[in-house]
Amino acid sequence: MHDTLYHRALVDAGIVAQGGFGSGITPWRGLGLGVARRMVDTFVEQVGRDFPVARTEHPFLNRRDAYEQVFPQYANIYRLPAPTQVQPDWVLRADNLHLNVEWLRWHRHQGPVVATGGLLRQLRGSGTPLFRERYIWPAVQLNHLLPAGEGAATLEAYRQVLERTFAAFGLPVLTIATDALSSYGEVCHLTVSCLRDGRPTVLATTYLMASRYREALGVTGDLVDIGFTGKVLALVSMHQLDRGGLGLPSVLAPVQAGILAPQGAAGLDAWTSSLGGIRTQRIAVAGDVPFRRRRAERGLARTGTPLAYGVRPDGSWRVGRRAPSCYAATPPFPDADAVRAELGAYDRRQLDAARARLRRSVEGGGLVRGVCDGCAAARRVPVFGRMVPRRRARCTHCAAPGSDHFVSEQGRFY
Ligand SMILES: [Zn+2]
Repeated sequence: MHDTLYHRALVDAGIVAQGGFGSGITPWRGLGLGVARRMVDTFVEQVGRDFPVARTEHPFLNRRDAYEQVFPQYANIYRLPAPTQVQPDWVLRADNLHLNVEWLRWHRHQGPVVATGGLLRQLRGSGTPLFRERYIWPAVQLNHLLPAGEGAATLEAYRQVLERTFAAFGLPVLTIATDALSSYGEVCHLTVSCLRDGRPTVLATTYLMASRYREALGVTGDLVDIGFTGKVLALVSMHQLDRGGLGLPSVLAPVQAGILAPQGAAGLDAWTSSLGGIRTQRIAVAGDVPFRRRRAERGLARTGTPLAYGVRPDGSWRVGRRAPSCYAATPPFPDADAVRAELGAYDRRQLDAARARLRRSVEGGGLVRGVCDGCAAARRVPVFGRMVPRRRARCTHCAAPGSDHFVSEQGRFY
């Protein structure tokens, strides 16, 4: 990952700070905390359409014995030995799985429950902001207990939840079932999108947990584990970056519509309060000083604002759009539906552009190919996983009936 433009854009927008706290630790700013909160809220809202979702947070210090009963094999965690024998040793929170399961049991809830607290893991080499971190934040982790045998059908519902969530962020995704991580999950779905240059990257993981974890946790049925991180916002930054800087989809943007108007312009208070919760920010500009107006517009664009309205000294209005950047005359005081339509159109343009990048990469790179079970098992094609849902396709190697698979010459990718 040599492309650091996405990080520059996030810093310039005031979403994250430059750093300087050691590799793998990205400090978040106030605006960024709001964006991350809206990212989690969007996911939880989508989950809530299908399941009775709850939210919780766990302490940063976890008992070492409880952690190691479930995760005995990981060396990449931070331990805090107790000063005396009678006190427990601690682990700095490295996973939410066992804590979520304990929470579900305590609250007699099957789930799902979502925790978002950061995870601390040792990092070899230097980190990449929001991609490879020592302190992973936000670390969104969902767990759901199910009667044995219901896991597969539930995973299908979660596939759709994740696809809807990422579409709202302007990120097109593919879902791949892989056994490359079979030690962790009996079934593993990877939600895959692409970098700006089209290289595939994993956005979210969904597991039906392997039996050793279920046994360690005392779970008799199926156990779903879904995780994604702030990397989602790095990918949003990559795809929606334009000459104005960071672009943000309207569900995430701190300000959805900026309003540039002369000081004391009439009717704006009543108008913004009629917009039904659309997040607006008004900036007073002297109408006859064009550079002030442009500077204010640049400031709005840089913080990810998808839309701006300009009120001229003569009372006429114009709308400033992004992706592509253009201006158009618009009737004064557009109603909430009209503003929402503008925001929806911006979101769609960005999603379509990202979708075209993913399609070019998948088609141009031959990443998705028909493969039969025999050729997949014999590794005649470097299959990474099967596309979900299953799509029939003739094997590109031997022409036998098969299904679409995701092919990766370099093996596992992140
Ligand atoms: Zn074949």
